[in-house]
Amino acid sequence: MPAKGVLVAVTADVVIAGGGVIGTAIAWRAAAAGLDVVLADPAQGDGASLVAAGMLAPVSEALFGEGALLRVNLLALARFPSFAAELEQVTGRRVGLRREGTLAVAYDAGDYAALMRLTAFRRSAGLDAEELDGRACRKLESFLTPDVHGGVLFPGDWSVDNRRYAAALREAAAAAGVRVVRDQVTAVLTGDGADGADGRVRGVALAEGGEVSSARVVVAAGSWSGGVDGLPAQLRAAVRPVKGQLLRLRHPDGMPPVLTHTIRATVRGADVYLVPRADGEVIVGATQEERGPDRTVTAGAVHDLLHDAMSVLPVTSELILAETCAGLRPGTPDNGPIVGGFGAGTGPGNGPGNGPGNGQRGLLLATGHYRNGILMSPVTADAIVAYLTGQPPAAEWEPFTPERFAATPAAGEGSR
Ligand SMILES: Cc1cc2nc3c(=O)[nH]c(=O)nc-3n(C[C@H](O)[C@H](O)[C@H](O)COP(=O)(O)OP(=O)(O)OC[C@H]3O[C@@H](n4cnc5c(N)ncnc54)[C@H](O)[C@@H]3O)c2cc1C
Repeated sequence: MPAKGVLVAVTADVVIAGGGVIGTAIAWRAAAAGLDVVLADPAQGDGASLVAAGMLAPVSEALFGEGALLRVNLLALARFPSFAAELEQVTGRRVGLRREGTLAVAYDAGDYAALMRLTAFRRSAGLDAEELDGRACRKLESFLTPDVHGGVLFPGDWSVDNRRYAAALREAAAAAGVRVVRDQVTAVLTGDGADGADGRVRGVALAEGGEVSSARVVVAAGSWSGGVDGLPAQLRAAVRPVKGQLLRLRHPDGMPPVLTHTIRATVRGADVYLVPRADGEVIVGATQEERGPDRTVTAGAVHDLLHDAMSVLPVTSELILAETCAGLRPGTPDNGPIVGGFGAGTGPGNGPGNGPGNGQRGLLLATGHYRNGILMSPVTADAIVAYLTGQPPAAEWEPFTPERFAATPAAGEGSR
């Protein structure tokens, strides 16, 4: 692995900018498909992927007006077990997939009415939901407060230990031959001449002054994707950081686990979730803040998260506050991911993508996964590898190509 600070000049079949779960999953699958892959990231593991709660929750994430997103999230859930099983088999690591479901609970009557409205919508979309009174909720989770008004069990939601999962992805990618360059991609390079006139990608420029030459570039830099020069301006503007603060709690030695299901609670209008891990860790999250690139942890957020968690699960106060953290979700204007390339022939169902005659040929985006990037990482890798190998990606991706934010970029736009 070339160390940071060494001038890099390498070639590859594909270079990936960003090594969170999205970039690393793509790297692994692309290398497994026989491609020579370079992944560039100055700080692999410093992104949202290690902050996340690891919920695989298409059902409890399903919101009014987001039907296309629900369809891709359901595709993602269906794919996760086989992807995780292969990852575990290749690496010998467990990734902590849990399938108990989400128990959504409402603290008071107003919270319950809101939960029922969402439940009616989710049922109308064909999703399983079992209504429970407060007593039935406590039968499932005995540490819940007796004050819980009622709840709904969504059996179609799962979770994964995202830190174990990310570590396994890095190991699998390395074992498949992915080369990692510890440097930041500053620009996608286009064209043979300085004006990038032919619109064909030829690699990336690195912050330390090196380059990776490649006819295929995948930008998968999470909330930082808009910082990569050489992307169309509207696309750069489409990805924004959405801050999330989150807590990791641990059981004191000898204390048995306090939770089995993921709990999503609404406490007088405020949402909080608690996600249990097999090792007894409980993740409590998360804030949702529009604060640009700020990743500080604030006293108020820690207070509010603990207050709401203790309101529904009083035993939370006995757990050890092991970690507080903040991460940046890559948000987009329509809350959907940005996956695919540019120009006719790059959309799902159109056959081989990025072939001759297309727009900015060889440029692919895999970003904007917002609240569901862990869930969507396997199917994003499938889609990008399909593009790279000339196959049509799944039809569920059709609404999520980069072209909805930026038409085919003018040759040389923003490129060097
Ligand atoms: C509090 C919180 C809770 C969440 N909970 C869940 C959840 O329960 N379930 C779920 O599915 N999702 C969840 N998410 C969302 C999920 O974490 C993200 O959607 C996902 O991690 C995005 O992955 P990524 O690889 O695109 O980005 P990241 O993990 O942010 O990785 C981006 C990488 O790109 C690198 N990079 C940046 N700029 C450059 C550059 N110019 N060149 C090269 N590399 C670069 C960074 O160093 C970083 O390693 C949560 C997010 C947060 C913040």
